[in-house]
Amino acid sequence: ASPFMLPRIPSFTMSRTEISSLGEFALIKRLTKDFPLHHESTRLGVGDDAAVIAYPEGLQTLLTTDLLLEGIHFDLTYTPLRHLGYKAAVGSFSDIYAMNGHPQQLTCSIGVSARFAVEDLEELYAGLRLACERYGVDLVGGDTSASLTGLCISITCLGAARPEEIVRRSGAKPTDLICVTGNLGAAYMGLQLLEREKRVFAGEQGDFEPDFAEHEYILERQLRPEARQDIILALAQQGLRPTAMIDSSDGLASELLHISKESGVGIRIYEDRLPIDIETLRMAEELKMSTTTVAMNGGEDFELIFTVPLAELDRLKELEGIHIIGHVTPETQGCYLVTPDGAELRLRAQGWPEEE
Ligand code: ADP
Ligand code: MG
Repeated sequence: ASPFMLPRIPSFTMSRTEISSLGEFALIKRLTKDFPLHHESTRLGVGDDAAVIAYPEGLQTLLTTDLLLEGIHFDLTYTPLRHLGYKAAVGSFSDIYAMNGHPQQLTCSIGVSARFAVEDLEELYAGLRLACERYGVDLVGGDTSASLTGLCISITCLGAARPEEIVRRSGAKPTDLICVTGNLGAAYMGLQLLEREKRVFAGEQGDFEPDFAEHEYILERQLRPEARQDIILALAQQGLRPTAMIDSSDGLASELLHISKESGVGIRIYEDRLPIDIETLRMAEELKMSTTTVAMNGGEDFELIFTVPLAELDRLKELEGIHIIGHVTPETQGCYLVTPDGAELRLRAQGWPEEE
């Protein structure tokens, strides 16, 4: 069974211990007590002025940080805190995987208003703990502060990689194949569904049962995403190193434009190659949205987008869950989505791509 339940709107914890009744040090202790350490490189975790990390000779350190603000990056009317903690951690692991590295240590800093109880923060940290266990990452520190309003979370993740393994956005070459993992737009459709049910809820009196039937997959993609550790391990096992890689947090179009800019190349992808799940298709239809727009611009999928030399096609085909959606072109040829009838739409970071 899933350790998560689908969200109920709204979600409150039952008993309530005021944060002020506990004090900062007791709170930190309570939140961080059940985090096992996995790595020898974690010489010292939570509890001193700083953590001590020592990677073996030959490894370089990757570092990524994310800031998540209530009302900007998440909405607690439909995001259970446990899911939020899980997603915050997984999002930062995804950034390390997108460099072809392995996440090892994590810090989590929180600013919390008096609206939150100790039990709420325990939920947040339960999600964080589950993510750390699943991906084998050590929580090694953080900071805790009161905030005037709302919740803010800052996550920093450290990862390790051999220097020759690290994959940047900048290595794509003309004729390389463009690949994406999994499918696109599902997390965005999950978000649209939650937003719709929230609007319905706002107009209801009394008991409200949100209608999530047959939308479990897109909700899970929005509320409990996974990072593609499996793909990074499979690529390594095949001896396949991408020339460029990025994770899809802002949507395919935007990420491809990053690869284009950093690599100094053009992009050509094919509309009928975009991998889209059936639930995403159905939700887009229900909301009268273009599935291509959803796949091109929907964020937070945490899939990997990467390029590999054409000569690696056979090895690439050995791997599951990877879709070839197009190829890299010379920079002068620009960045285009080609429709089945041959129309070429220029890629844009947001909104529907323009026809030339
Ligand atoms: P300092 O005053 O040096 O910032 P703190 O009392 O804030 O120390 O933190 C004590 C220890 O608890 C440190 O190891 C710190 O990294 C850790 N810590 C503080 N807040 C959190 C948190 N929200 N999550 C995880 N670890 C935390
Ligand atoms: Mg501190």
